Amino acid sequence: MAVPKRRTSKSKKRMRRTHFKAKVPTLSPCPKCGEMRRPHRVCPNCGFYKGERRIEIED
Ligand SMILES: [Zn+2]
Repeated sequence: MAVPKRRTSKSKKRMRRTHFKAKVPTLSPCPKCGEMRRPHRVCPNCGFYKGERRIEIED
């Protein structure tokens, strides 16, 4: 098995890690209630997905 010849320097490690950051989730308005929700997910506000009630919302 391949083994690294030398240890990755602090600088190289940090340079690599500049690319892993938290990204803002994509949001699109619900066609039913207009609330912003993530695409391809049941709407957390009205519980609808593809024109059908999928989950009950308690309030
Ligand atoms: Zn909705």
